[in-house]
Formats: sequence, C-alpha cells, structure tokens
Amino acid sequence: MSLKGLPNFDNTELAFRHLSDRDLKRGRVLFELLSRPWLVDVGSLFARLALALRIPIGWAIRPTVYAQFCGGETIEESEETVELLYKNRVRTILDYSAEGVTSEEELDSNCSEILATIDAAREDPRHAFSVFKPSGLSLKGLLSKSTDDFTIKEEEEWERVLRRIRTICQATSDAGGKVLIDAEESWLQDNIDEIAEDMMSDYNRESVIVYTTVQLYRIDRLKYLKNLCIKARECGFKIGVKLVRGAYMEKERAMAIKNGCPLPIQPNKEATDRDFDNAIRFCLDNLDAIHIFAGTHNAESTLMLCKEMSERGIENDDPRISFSQLLGMSDQISFNLAAHGYNIAKYVPYGPIREAIPYLIRRAKENTSIEGQTSRELSLIDKELKRRKKLI
Ligand SMILES: Cc1cc2nc3c(=O)[nH]c(=O)nc-3n(C[C@H](O)[C@H](O)[C@H](O)COP(=O)(O)OP(=O)(O)OC[C@H]3O[C@@H](n4cnc5c(N)ncnc54)[C@H](O)[C@@H]3O)c2cc1C
Repeated sequence: MSLKGLPNFDNTELAFRHLSDRDLKRGRVLFELLSRPWLVDVGSLFARLALALRIPIGWAIRPTVYAQFCGGETIEESEETVELLYKNRVRTILDYSAEGVTSEEELDSNCSEILATIDAAREDPRHAFSVFKPSGLSLKGLLSKSTDDFTIKEEEEWERVLRRIRTICQATSDAGGKVLIDAEESWLQDNIDEIAEDMMSDYNRESVIVYTTVQLYRIDRLKYLKNLCIKARECGFKIGVKLVRGAYMEKERAMAIKNGCPLPIQPNKEATDRDFDNAIRFCLDNLDAIHIFAGTHNAESTLMLCKEMSERGIENDDPRISFSQLLGMSDQISFNLAAHGYNIAKYVPYGPIREAIPYLIRRAKENTSIEGQTSRELSLIDKELKRRKKLI
C-alpha cells in the first residue's frame, strides 16, 4: 500500500500496526519511567556502577530499555527486528553499538564487526545502509589531536585507522551498498571530516557510496556544508550527507567551560532548528551534487522536507533522499513515511548488553531531556491503545 499526499504523523494505526498490544504496553511503561528525570539519573548511575564493578545487570536491562532500543546481541539475533521492519517497508541500518574501545585489538575487532554488517546487507533489500562511528576504529586521543602533532608511533596508529576506514568503504563499494560515517564531539570532528572528505572524494565519483554527517547544532556547520559543496563540485565528487541536529550538547558545554573556550553550539534550539531546515533546503537546491539522509525525530522538519519534495516535483521514493529514526523512537514518523513510499530506515543498534549500556544511557537521557519527546511517545501509544480497545 502506498498512500498519496503528505504523511500524517498522528495516524497511530499506521505507526504501530507492527506492534502487538503487549509491545505497546511495554513501551508505555518504559516511556512513563523515562519521563522521570530523577529515575533516569539513578538508573544511569546504577548501570555505570554495575558496569565498572562487573555486576551482572542484563536481567534488568534486556526486557526493558534493551528490548525497546536494540535489535539483539548479534546480527543473527537482530533478524526478527529486521524482518518485522521490512514487512512494513522500513529498512534497517545495523549499528554495532560497542563504545569506549581502548586497545588496537578491540579496534580491529570492531572493524571486523562492521564488515560483517556490510556483508549482511549485501544483496539484501531489507538493509539500507551500513554505519560506523570513527571513535570505534581509533583511539579517542588520536582523533582529538592535530595530525601535524603526531609522534612516529601515533603516525603508525593513524595509518591503521585510515586502513580500517578505507577497508570499510571499499567493502561497501564491492557489496553495492552505502555507508554512513557518524559525527561525534567537535574536538574529534576535524579529523573525522578530513577522513570523510577523502573517502567521498575516492568513492563518490559515479554514485554516492559514502555519507558524512553534519551536526546543525554547531554554529559553523551550515557554512561548512556550503563550502563542502563548492569543494565537491570543483574536485568532481558527490556528497552524501546525513543531516542531524547533534547529540553531544552537554559534553560540548562541559568541555567549553573546562577549557574556557567559546561554545561551538547554537545559542538556542530555534537557531538549531533554523540551520537544520536551511541545510535541508540547501541540499535540495543542490540535489545534483548532494544526496540527503535526514536523521531526525523532529516531525516539523520531516514534514517540511516532504512538502519541499512535493513542491519541487521530486518523487517520494527518489533514491537521492532518505529519512531515518532510531529503533524504538518516533515510530509515528517512520511507519507513516513508509506507508507513503518514502525511503525510510531505522538505525538498529545491536551488540552485547554490557557494551550497549553507554548507548542505552544516552537514549534514556535523550528521552528525558528532549522537551516533549517522551510525552509525545506516551500520548501516541495511549491513543493507539484506546483505538484498539474500541475495536473489541
Ligand atoms: C538516524 C539518526 C542518526 C543520528 N546520527 C547522529 C550522529 O552521527 N551524530 C550526532 O551527533 N547525532 C546523531 N543523531 C542524534 C541527533 O543529532 C539528535 O541528537 C537527535 O536526533 C534529536 O534531534 P532531532 O532532530 O531528532 O529532534 P529535536 O527533538 O527537535 O531536537 C533536539 C536536538 O536539538 C538540539 N537542541 C536542543 N536544545 C538546544 C538548545 N538549547 N540549543 C541548541 N540546540 C539545542 C540538540 O541537538 C538536540 O539533540 C542521530 C539521530 C538519528 C535519528
């Protein structure tokens, strides 16, 4: 079924038809808990402590936050989620969620796992993109240092980072896929940008295989995107860009205070929203050179992109434009977009429960801190549960 017209994100029947009453009720309890900041703070502290002291807490996490936000511990375990999404025209982006890697062996093992996601996506239409976080392939100290200041040992380590990333991009190209490079904290981002630009220049000549990420909560990023477009046109490569608002606001604030530096973040949410929407319009104006991946749970920005596509005569399923949300969040956006034929994929994080804990804490905190996000999820779930009850 492909619906005509613009999507309606209040349509809870379409949004939740992939979920049983039991799933919905579990989601309801979880979002109810996440709406209490003190509980999330206590829970996060407990999870961090348990992680440090190696206390087993999988029994508490697996049926709750993990079941809501993760596909499983392995690619095979995530299969059920992948299938369920695809039945509803939503594709998957397998996201290996191990964080805080500290040795070369772990970095190599992360690289192998990302290569396994690329292999899983090969010739499988249920998968849309692969993805990686550069800090999962490099020691953080290295990413935050200017390459001009590297010691000989660091230069060797850096060569290994570049080799891992090139191997991933080459494997994606060989598999006929596409790969997203996540954006991270601003002090890591200069090196990440340099690598992403190199990879786009090497792999995005005929088609767009590599996507960089631009965080519009940064004051300088719209300008960066515009300059990147000029550079790409001059050098003859295409840009793939994941547009996001940005996930590390608290860390950016803390770092700016610690170093006495100006905050690189927009003065308020309105400024972030304005630059995000302007970045979308800029990319649409340059669609011959830029492919868009809108990574957002914001209904207004998503609808704005849908409207602009319609007004510019761009088909809903134009391969140059993709939308995405995280598993367990904003299903009303993902599944309504899918029903209207847009290219839509969910990030499906997977990995050992212990290693997914930092990711889960971020999701829990994000749901608590984003004004209205949790209450929006709750009211939509309530609306759907009531609608189903009336049918009985
Ligand atoms: C598919 C997908 C991929 C993602 N990949 C990345 C990634 O690679 N890197 C990354 O950093 N993030 C990533 N994110 C997270 C993203 O950056 C946002 O943190 C998250 O999606 C919330 O923003 P929003 O657009 O969904 O919605 P909204 O709820 O409308 O916006 C919340 C966001 O607005 C910004 N904001 C809030 N308050 C203020 C304020 N006072 N001043 C300035 N700005 C403010 C912050 O960025 C905040 O996260 C991704 C998200 C998705 C859905």
